[in-house]
Amino acid sequence: MAWEFSTEPTFQKKLDWVDEFCREEIEPLEYVFPHAVRWKDPKVKGLVKSLQDQIKEQGLWAIFLDAELGGPGYGQLSLGLLNEIIGRYPSAPQMFGAAAPDTGNMELLAAYGTEEQKDRWLTPMLNQEMWSAYSMTEPQGGSDPNLFKTSAIRDGDEWVINGEKWFTSAGRVADLLFVMCTNGMFVVPRKTPGVEIMPEPRNHNHIVYRDVRVPLDHLLGPEDGAKVLAQRRLGGGRIHHAMRTIARCKLAFDMMCERALSRESHGKIIGEHQMVQERIADSYAAIQMLRLFVLETAWKIDQSSTQATRTDIAAVKYSMAKVLREVSYNALHILGSLGTTDLTPLQAMYASAPSMGIADGVDEVHKATVARNVLKGYRPHTGYWPTEYFPAKREKARQKFEPLFQKDPELRALADAYERSRPGPE
Ligand SMILES: Cc1cc2nc3c(=O)[nH]c(=O)nc-3n(C[C@H](O)[C@H](O)[C@H](O)COP(=O)(O)OP(=O)(O)OC[C@H]3O[C@@H](n4cnc5c(N)ncnc54)[C@H](O)[C@@H]3O)c2cc1C
Repeated sequence: MAWEFSTEPTFQKKLDWVDEFCREEIEPLEYVFPHAVRWKDPKVKGLVKSLQDQIKEQGLWAIFLDAELGGPGYGQLSLGLLNEIIGRYPSAPQMFGAAAPDTGNMELLAAYGTEEQKDRWLTPMLNQEMWSAYSMTEPQGGSDPNLFKTSAIRDGDEWVINGEKWFTSAGRVADLLFVMCTNGMFVVPRKTPGVEIMPEPRNHNHIVYRDVRVPLDHLLGPEDGAKVLAQRRLGGGRIHHAMRTIARCKLAFDMMCERALSRESHGKIIGEHQMVQERIADSYAAIQMLRLFVLETAWKIDQSSTQATRTDIAAVKYSMAKVLREVSYNALHILGSLGTTDLTPLQAMYASAPSMGIADGVDEVHKATVARNVLKGYRPHTGYWPTEYFPAKREKARQKFEPLFQKDPELRALADAYERSRPGPE
């Protein structure tokens, strides 16, 4: 009997350390120096380094990388438990060297890069000396990769990339752009001539690649392998987002419960009103269900691979968006007018929920994937009636008992009597 819902005491100690470290060190730094890991000032860099040295001492740096890819190899389940703590603090994933979009790009380099590519890009990315972005979606459509047009043409000892990408998160501030072309995945330094960043949107960039020339060794993985690389990257990214989403949902839930006990209305603490209780109870159950689903999916990845677990990853993906939407809304609502302001994390959390249903593939596409894959495990019934059609089942059961009835007519009489007295209609 191998089901296990408790955490090993040694790992729990690590989780406790992370919890306290995030609360006592990372969160205060974020309030005074937002996005501190990206600051160039040596004093702020020094503050970041002292925190990151402690994280490294704990063996918690770049925890997303499996051992065979050169990481600490905690595995996805342990990562899930860590992420449901660090995901509560916006700056913590970067502080731990485990923030999107870099994590997915590093995973690609670790899995598909040559030794030279790893030295050139992976090592500096792991050391946060280089930052990256992922350029896949195109302006004419994102949900269907068959519509993508950006391509690379070989010209002597260079690839020449032409195309247009849309919504490349943090593209403007990236050193490296991982560009999905119709014929391969390419690593393009942002400052390469021909990379043109459009003025809008500001954070998720529209980028035109116009005759962008890169050396042949900037192709990552095999030629024509872009879809396989993209699937691997996005599969990992989706489950990591889900782990951090649990943390966001828990934060909203904590805020909801604290407020429910703190405010009074119509002669009661608001947590004593049944409709408030319903929101709390529904949110509690939704978070618990999501958490178990995410952790079990992470466990399945550890037992197999992201590819083998793709149905559950897709189901987790749209479920987390839904739970975040519901729980953050419930929390915002219970905080009343304060919830609608930008003075607490709730408004931004609720506003981010629709993005969760779109980023990394829209809900509809994941739902279609889940339904398609699930249906592969079923067969149509023969004839008019479904397998669970009572009359057919009864008939079959009678056939099974027939040898016994032949030996024991009294038993048959009992069954016949019941059959006659059985209430109808069907
Ligand atoms: C916060 C955020 C960050 C992102 N970061 C990146 C990034 O770093 N790099 C990158 O390349 N992209 C990024 N994206 C883009 C993202 O991958 C795309 O938005 C997504 O793939 C959907 O593409 P689209 O926006 O073109 O929507 P469309 O493909 O135009 O879809 C719009 C709507 O059409 C409907 N629809 C589409 N297809 C189907 C279908 N098969 N069945 C039923 N309904 C359907 C759905 O309602 C869908 O929401 C990001 C998006 C967000 C929101």
